[in-house]
Amino acid sequence: MSVTNYGGYGYGYGMGGMSYLLVLIGAALCLITSGLVKSTFNRYSRITAMSHMTGCEVASSILRKEGIYDVKVERIEGSLTDHFDPAAKVVRLSSAVYDSDSVAAISVAAHECGHAMQHNEDYFPLKLRSAILPAASFGSKYGLWIVIAGLFISFFRPLVFIGIVLFAFGVLFQIVTLPVEFDASHRALVTLSEMGILGDEESEGARKVLRSAAMTYVASAAASILSLIRLILISRGGRSRRD
Ligand SMILES: [Zn+2]
Repeated sequence: MSVTNYGGYGYGYGMGGMSYLLVLIGAALCLITSGLVKSTFNRYSRITAMSHMTGCEVASSILRKEGIYDVKVERIEGSLTDHFDPAAKVVRLSSAVYDSDSVAAISVAAHECGHAMQHNEDYFPLKLRSAILPAASFGSKYGLWIVIAGLFISFFRPLVFIGIVLFAFGVLFQIVTLPVEFDASHRALVTLSEMGILGDEESEGARKVLRSAAMTYVASAAASILSLIRLILISRGGRSRRD
């Protein structure tokens, strides 16, 4: 990405090196956790659950048990693309989850139903996340560029602050995502054991699959906090050069 060249534009090698390091740490965290979730998912994809229910069957039964009748279960292309779409009211499961009766598939299907349950009962962190989504997506796309514009064009100086605030909305979104994800996994594990879909040993596997998936969200949140710190460092570097 061209933005990473920014440290070399005369803001001092110290500041540039520091901000590079933050970006590298963030990227490494995301890479490690996404590798971990893939390997954990693959490992538990090879373990068939005793109940022999497929991801699709598990999702349908959980929704029915929760009294959620207006949410459909559909198949979606790709791998680890599973999600709940609150606008369309659909739990979308990738083929590796939809058709499989593995511990991994059942865990992911139940997790997505956890999001449907949250939506069904107006779970507060989920509502908060939807409320900040517009500012967050604008901020993570353009925040950095607004800061840069503010640094280069002297009479646009307030843009530096505005850009940082907008970028911070993106960071806040990632942070609010954490309780949403942890709660969906918690609901999944409780429901799977209550309904007898997974036995005790299988539940332990499900916990590992969902915990590794949650770690990818923790890594993204950490990476976005590091990016925010980097942005603040860049803006301060710009100021000290001018002083
Ligand atoms: Zn989730």
